[in-house]
Amino acid sequence: MKNIYSNIFSFNKKILKKSVANLKKGNVIGLPTETVYGLGGNAYSKVAIQKIYSLKNRPKKNPLIVHYLNYRDADKDVIFNRDFYKLYKKFCPGPITFVLKKKSRSKIQSLVTAKLNTVAIRFPSHKTTRSVLKNLNFPLAMPSANLSSGISPVNALDVAEEFKKKIKIIINSGNSKIGIESTVVSLIGKPKILRPGIIEAKTIKKFLKISNNKISSKIISPGMLKKHYSPGIPVLLNKKKAAKNCALVTFGGNYKDKINNFNLSKKSDLKEAASNLYKTFRKIKKQGFKKIYVVKIPNLGAGIAINDRLKRAAN
Ligand code: AMP
Ligand code: MG
Repeated sequence: MKNIYSNIFSFNKKILKKSVANLKKGNVIGLPTETVYGLGGNAYSKVAIQKIYSLKNRPKKNPLIVHYLNYRDADKDVIFNRDFYKLYKKFCPGPITFVLKKKSRSKIQSLVTAKLNTVAIRFPSHKTTRSVLKNLNFPLAMPSANLSSGISPVNALDVAEEFKKKIKIIINSGNSKIGIESTVVSLIGKPKILRPGIIEAKTIKKFLKISNNKISSKIISPGMLKKHYSPGIPVLLNKKKAAKNCALVTFGGNYKDKINNFNLSKKSDLKEAASNLYKTFRKIKKQGFKKIYVVKIPNLGAGIAINDRLKRAAN
């Protein structure tokens, strides 16, 4: 990746020290995770959290996910339960976020949780972000590092293009392996999937009962906002071909290589397709196409998470 941005850095001891110093001062930085790149700041610092909301232009009613190294660090902020321990043991660190009750003595800023008495917590597996967390005595509130309602960044250059020089440090660790946001599961009362992800409901169901209730219209999770994950140009779903001057996002081996065809996975691998989704949308937008047509994506496995994002992108 050609680096024309002076705020993108490879990870080493020097940049670790600089990142930690910045975070301790209440600054926010761009960090890689296995899902997408995040905009991280001290979850206990009002100044840092205000910076996150204002940089992203994020509505204040959309709470942020708080990131920890391990459950011991999270213990001071949230109330664990048996469902949490089951899933933690199985999937953490990894691409899954848990919504739990906040402890009354927690130092998490009320802005982080949009004044709710619940917190969404995650334990990222990415080595770089784990080394940063290891050197902090506070957790990181970290939404995806993009302007609100847009698509998540999957590499350092994407982050730089979103915020330009407004953040001092973006740690470069190549492309995020998973490429879409974490599965969000509420563990308050009967467990519920709030946002599908690479860890599927089907897999989680092996360990606990999940409520199939259609989630109420009340926004309990902002990732559920109808318009979200938008590439900034119209997205049309379940198409077989694209109109003139428009891009066609395809899946599987049945499509010819054409300049306006963008294949998410020639071998019909839905995980690969998920990891290529946002990258492909950004590429299409950069090439100046006016609309994105998308073929039907199978609604199983990682396809469930892909279709969730596509539906909102098309809204
Ligand atoms: P992102 O902006 O990609 O980091 O997404 C954050 C996700 O975490 C959104 O889908 C939110 O719904 C979810 N979230 C954060 N805090 C809470 C909370 N207290 N209750 C429910 N969902 C939450
Ligand atoms: Mg986001």
